[in-house]
This record gives sequence, C-alpha cells and structure tokens, in this order.
Amino acid sequence: MAYFSEKIDHALSRLVSMAQMLGQILLPERCCGCGKELVRASDAGHVVFAARARLCGECWSELDFIDAPLCPISGDPFPFADAMQENGEAQAVSAEVLARRPAFTSARAAVRYGAVARRLVGQLKYGDRTDLAPLFASWLMRCGAEVLAEADFVVPVPLHGGRLFLRRYNQAGEIGRHVARLSQVAFLPDSLRRVKRTRSQIGLSAGARRRNVAGAFQLKEGEGARLLGKVVVLIDDVRTTGATAEACARVLAAHGVQAVHVLSVARVVPGEEEIISSK
Ligand SMILES: [Zn+2]
Repeated sequence: MAYFSEKIDHALSRLVSMAQMLGQILLPERCCGCGKELVRASDAGHVVFAARARLCGECWSELDFIDAPLCPISGDPFPFADAMQENGEAQAVSAEVLARRPAFTSARAAVRYGAVARRLVGQLKYGDRTDLAPLFASWLMRCGAEVLAEADFVVPVPLHGGRLFLRRYNQAGEIGRHVARLSQVAFLPDSLRRVKRTRSQIGLSAGARRRNVAGAFQLKEGEGARLLGKVVVLIDDVRTTGATAEACARVLAAHGVQAVHVLSVARVVPGEEEIISSK
C-alpha cells in the first residue's frame, strides 16, 4: 500500500512540475509584487532580479531597504540619523533597546515591512512562491554579512507540525536553506521545534504576543551538545515586535548557545507602524 501511494505521489509531483514548466512557457511573466505582466528584460523600466523572481521597476523602487546608521542591537534605523552621526561618538542603542534589552544578541532586517514587502512575503508564505526564497536570501546576505561571517549554524524559526503539514513547507526554512548555501554556514532546519500551536500574532499587542509564544519552542532532543557555545543565526520572514525571535533566542540561550543573531526579511520598525498600515 505504501509502495503504491509513493508511486502516486511521485507521478503527481512530476505532473505538477511539468504543468509548472508549461505554464512558464505559455503564460506571460508577472511581477511578484503587483501581478502586472512583465515585458521582456530588454525593455526599459523593468527589472529582472535574481533567477525567476521578477519584480517590475515600480515595485522594486517601492521596496525600502534598511540602511545604516542602525541600532547595533535591534538593527532599527535611528530616527535622527544625521545628529547621531555628527557627534562622532560611538553609536548608542535605540530607545526600545534601552527600555528593554532583547533576548537575542543582535537583529537585522533587509527591508521595511511596506506594501510591496508584505505582498512578496505573503507570496512565499501563502502563495507557494518558493522561488522567492533565493531572492530574500540574497537580501539577507547583504544585511547579515557580518554575523554570517562568524556563524556556526543557520536555524529557521519553525512552524508547528500541523501548519507545516497544511502549507507543506516552512517559509523561514526555505529562506534559511538558501542563506546557508550562499554563506556556506551549516544549516539546521529542525533543531528548533514549535511544540505549541500558537494563534497568529496579527492584531496582538506586544505583551500579548510575548504571552502567545511563551513556551512555544523547544530544542530537538540531543541537539544541546551540538549547539553549546556556538553562534546561531536565526532566520525569520517578518519581525514585528520580535516576540517570536526572542522566544526562540531564549530557548537557544538556555542550552548554552553563545550568541543568537536574528535575520529577517522584513521589519516593522517601531514608530512606523502607522505609516505601514495606511499604505
Ligand atoms: Zn510590480
């Protein structure tokens, strides 16, 4: 019985990939940010970026990449960048970090969670567009270059087993796999486990988010020895309040991990939430 279902699975996945190939030949390429039909790469005004992940010029220019000067811990851009630079002193940390030190060592994100970033991340998360993972990974290679250079392992924020079954893949795992490949850092896709099925964090306050993910993560049995004293880069798609990343970081730190650096594709920068929701 198992033999036959395996055969059927195999035949089905071949059919799906053949259909996808045909689709790529017959259907016009569409921008993965807005769905607009893309003209050929040679036409002006359109950008072809990273193998198969295509964005139109408009969507590309709307992406808001996060740049220095940043808080060295939270990775958030300083609101008064010019003043901070002119005093010539060592950079201070952000107000959020001063008020409450996070459980992770540092965090960086590639882009602000604006309208285009939200659609792109949504395509990977819910739209089966795993071909976007290499694009996101290339962004994380840029904003995470320093931490990846000293990292021992790349670990994705895990999905709960039930959700993984429905979605078939973990979006953070897909991004992490490509980050590990590009940076040549060892990839541990299932060292962290989500043992509690949590409700979506959307619409929850910072405190409620922390309570929602408390106790949600565990280390896979027997992984402690491997991670002891090591530097881990934790991969996530979107960091909002950072509650999920912190819950993961706490579990890793409790098992003797030396440093946990968080890399996320998109970040809801504190104080900019309203700009984002009105977009
Ligand atoms: Zn577009």
